[in-house]
Amino acid sequence: MHQAHQPTRRQFILQMSALGVLGLSSFAKEFDNTAEKYDLIVVGAGSAGMPCAITAAEQGAKVLVIEKSDRVGGTLHLSAGHLSAGGTRRQKAMGIDDSPQKHYEDVMRICRHTADPDLVRLAVYEAPHTIDWLEELGFPFAPDTPKIVYGHVPYQIPRTYWGIEAARSILQTLMPLWEKYLASGNITLKLQHQLTDLLVKKDRVVGIRAYHNGKKLDFFANNTVLCTGGYASNPDFFARVHPTHSRLLSTAALTSTGEGIIIAQRIGANFRGAEKHLGSLGGIELEPGSGRVDFWNAWAMVFTPKYRPPREIYVNAQGERFMNEDELNPDVRERLVAQQPEEKFWLIFDDASIDDGEIIIRAWKGEQIRAAAKEEKFIWQANSLQELATKTGLPAQSLIRTVEAYNQAVRTKNDPHFGRTTLTHAIAQPPFYAMLSYTSSLITFGGLQVNAHLQVINTKGKPIEGLYAAGEILGAGATSGNAFCGGMALTPAISFGRILGKKLAKRN
Ligand SMILES: Cc1cc2nc3c(=O)[nH]c(=O)nc-3n(C[C@H](O)[C@H](O)[C@H](O)COP(=O)(O)OP(=O)(O)OC[C@H]3O[C@@H](n4cnc5c(N)ncnc54)[C@H](O)[C@@H]3O)c2cc1C
Repeated sequence: MHQAHQPTRRQFILQMSALGVLGLSSFAKEFDNTAEKYDLIVVGAGSAGMPCAITAAEQGAKVLVIEKSDRVGGTLHLSAGHLSAGGTRRQKAMGIDDSPQKHYEDVMRICRHTADPDLVRLAVYEAPHTIDWLEELGFPFAPDTPKIVYGHVPYQIPRTYWGIEAARSILQTLMPLWEKYLASGNITLKLQHQLTDLLVKKDRVVGIRAYHNGKKLDFFANNTVLCTGGYASNPDFFARVHPTHSRLLSTAALTSTGEGIIIAQRIGANFRGAEKHLGSLGGIELEPGSGRVDFWNAWAMVFTPKYRPPREIYVNAQGERFMNEDELNPDVRERLVAQQPEEKFWLIFDDASIDDGEIIIRAWKGEQIRAAAKEEKFIWQANSLQELATKTGLPAQSLIRTVEAYNQAVRTKNDPHFGRTTLTHAIAQPPFYAMLSYTSSLITFGGLQVNAHLQVINTKGKPIEGLYAAGEILGAGATSGNAFCGGMALTPAISFGRILGKKLAKRN
C-alpha cells in the first residue's frame, strides 16, 4: 500500500515534473511543500464520500478526504434518510418476500424507464448489502420499517427503511468507523479544503487542487472519487442547466453547489439528465425572494392526501382549481403543479378549517398560521374573498366563482369538475386565507455521466481515467429517472460510495 508522505521539495519537483501535471517552472512557483500522495482521494465527506473512504480504509488503503465545510456528513445532517432495498436480512426476518430484481422492476415502473438501467441495476443489487452492512454496524432502524411509503409513488413491497433520527442515524452509525480510520491514519481528513481543479496528465486525473486558508494545495492519488453532491443550492448553475424552468426554490444543504460537476466539466466530463427534473410539493418560501424553503420546519402537507386529507382547495394564478386535491398519485400531483406558471399555487381555506385536524404546515400549530397571516409574507388573511384576491393579486371574480363552485360541491357531495371526494370543509367562515406554495428542490436531477463502473464519461463518450463519481453528483435522474423513487438518491449514494471504496482501495 502506498504510504502518504511529505516529500522533500526536490523529490516533489522531480515527481511532479515526471507526472507532467504542471510545467516545472509554473509548478516550482506554486509549490508550497504540501503535496502528498495517496491511494485514493475522495472529494466530499457526505453520504457517498464517507462510506467510500471507510470502505477503502477497511481494505488498508491510504485515503485523503477533502471536505469544503467545517464538518463531515454533508446532506446526512438534513436528509429524511429513506433508504430502499429489496432482499435484505431485515425483510427476510419479517417474512417479506423481496429481491433486487423486484426492486429494479418497481423503480423502472415508477420512473417509466427514464432512469439509467445499468446504474439502477448496480444500485438495487448493492442495496441489500448496504442495508445489511448498516444493520451490522448497529443502525437504529425505525421499528416498523421497512414500510410502504406514500409520499412518493409507493413501491409494491415494503422496502423503505429509515433511522429513528432520519439520516442523522446513518451519520451516527458511520462515525465510530470513521473515527477508527482517522485514528489509524488510513483516512486523512482535510476540512475547509475546497476542490478547485482536477489535475490531469496525459488524459488521466492524477490528483486535485484545493483551496485552504487562501492557499492552493495540490494532492495526488492513483484515483479520485468526486462525491460533492448536487447543485440545488446554486441558483446560477440551476438556471444555466434548466433554462426553461422557473426560479429555484431549494431546501438542500447550502454546500450543494455543484462544484464537482462544474470542475469535472472543465476537463471534458459530460453533464446529462437535467431534463429529468421534477419539483417536490410542499415548499413554502418563508422569506419572499430568498429562494429557500424549509423541509423540516415549514413544509406544506400537499404531497399526498394519504397522511392528511385536504381541507383546502388549490388555485393557480387565474384563481382556478387545476387538480383534484385528493388525487392519490404523488406523481400526478407533482406534474399538475409543474404545469402551473412559476410552478406555484395558493391554498385557499377558511378559519374554521385551520385546526380541525392536522395543520396544513407539518408540525405547526394553528396559531402560527394565524400569526404568519398577519405578516403577509406567504399567507394572507382577509374578511372577504374580494379582499383576499386584492392582497394576493389573484383575479377576484374568478376566485369567488371557484370558491362558490367548490362550496356547492361540498353541499351536494359531488365535485363534477375534478372528482374530489374529500368534501368535508366548505370555505365559508371568514377570515379567509391564501397560502402560497411552490414546487421545490430537495435534490437535483442532472449530473455527471458515469458508466457501470462509475467512471466519469467525457463528452466524447470515453471514460476519464482516474476519475470516478458517486452520489447526487450523478444526478438523481440517473437512479430515479424523471420521478421520485423512494430512497433512490441516498441508497445509491451510500452503495456506490462503498462499491468504489472497495474497488479503488487496490492500486491500479
Ligand atoms: C431535506 C432532504 C430530504 C431528503 N430525503 C431523502 C430521502 O428520504 N431518501 C433519499 O434517497 N434521498 C433523500 N434526499 C436526497 C439525498 O439525501 C441526497 O441525494 C444525498 O444525501 C446526497 O449525498 P452526496 O454524498 O451526493 O452529497 P452530500 O451528502 O451533500 O455530500 C457532499 C459533500 O461534498 C462537500 N463538497 C461540495 N463541494 C465541495 C468542494 N468543492 N470541495 C470539497 N468538498 C465539497 C459538501 O460540503 C458535502 O459535505 C433528501 C435530500 C434533502 C435535502
